Amino acid sequence: MDPSRIHDAFPAPDYRGAQEQALDDVRAAFEAGNDVVLVRAPTGSGKSLLARAIAGCARQANVDDPTKPVGAYYTTPQVSQLDDVAADPLLSDLSIVRGKGNYKCILPGETDTPVNRAPCVRETDFDCQVKHRCPYFSDREIAANRAIAAMTLAYFMQTAGSDVFGQRDVVVIDEAHGLGTWAEMYATVELGPDTVPVWDEVTPPEIGDLDDAAARAVIRQAFEQSAATHALVAEDHPNVRDVVTDLGYRVIGETWLRETTGVPLARVRRLEAEVATVEAGLRFGEAAVDADECHDVTLPARLVETARGIDQDATLEAIHDRSVAYVTDQGGSRPAERVVLAAGSDSEELVEALADVLRQRYDAVERDGDDLVARETVFYPERAATLGVPEGPKFGRLAAGETVEVDGQSIPPEAVSETREDRFSCR
Ligand code: SF4
Repeated sequence: MDPSRIHDAFPAPDYRGAQEQALDDVRAAFEAGNDVVLVRAPTGSGKSLLARAIAGCARQANVDDPTKPVGAYYTTPQVSQLDDVAADPLLSDLSIVRGKGNYKCILPGETDTPVNRAPCVRETDFDCQVKHRCPYFSDREIAANRAIAAMTLAYFMQTAGSDVFGQRDVVVIDEAHGLGTWAEMYATVELGPDTVPVWDEVTPPEIGDLDDAAARAVIRQAFEQSAATHALVAEDHPNVRDVVTDLGYRVIGETWLRETTGVPLARVRRLEAEVATVEAGLRFGEAAVDADECHDVTLPARLVETARGIDQDATLEAIHDRSVAYVTDQGGSRPAERVVLAAGSDSEELVEALADVLRQRYDAVERDGDDLVARETVFYPERAATLGVPEGPKFGRLAAGETVEVDGQSIPPEAVSETREDRFSCR
């Protein structure tokens, strides 16, 4: 970066308050060789304009060394802050891209579907013919090709440095308090020769033969050098499990490892503390990575039970696709009523997805205030027999809703069937 550009990159025509002094201090801090500079300024002092000025110091394509990263990321943990940036004409050259959940698909029949649940996400190898016009992918493309790409911190953590955005010269984090927690949610520890003991050189004795002191030392060293907090221990090493637990680390099973892969560890910890442990049936849904904040709700028990009875796999999929996490039993195969949803979403969408499962069996399912009303037509063969309908094809046609002729007389399906109504309270 070139800190000498900082005043030229300030987007307002005049300085307010201490902005000019702040920029001088920031410039001096960078010129002194600091890679990271923290600016503390009070609310309303125009921090975003300072952020724009700092981002403007990034190496520029066509000006600086083309082999080095160019451009800047502007990122903030607060969605509302991104809205403020979007509304500020002085920050119009910050190209904003948001998470997929903020955009709607444009395919016919999918215009109410958020991009994170659109066909291109749902279906493997889906080849969207209008991807070039898709609002999400358009914004992403524009942001990726502009000097300053603006995004939430959650989006940044998942995409910065990717093939799409590449490496950039400067990162400005607006509203950076709480950054440590954010970093913990997205940090990855790579195990390698530099972070764990090189076992071939250390030639440790068989773990099972270690006396307690040696076992503790080796295991403690492994944890400390890898910065790991969990261990997967084979069942045939109960002494190792004991030592790991005794050292204050957590022994996890293969289910825990499989179910939490890709989910920020801080979120796993929180939901295991607040909802249920993975061992007790907690599972993480498709919204587990995108969600910044979440809340848990209880779905109508009878609705879940009925949907499960119709199609347990479809019920599980409906909940899995729309939730941050959910409680199950029967080894994770049977969803229960308790689910965790992303902040800002309620259970309505989930109830509608469960209504779709009900539609596999019922003739009609619709909302009636707080209730979900399911109707089905029930055929009574004994009534058909009383009316003289012979068993055979005419029974089948009547059951399928057709009128049949018997001895010159028309028998409509209503004469041998009734509509049964089932109500599910969704309050
Ligand atoms: S890429 Fe196509 S399928 Fe995917 S969200 Fe955009 S318009 Fe819909």
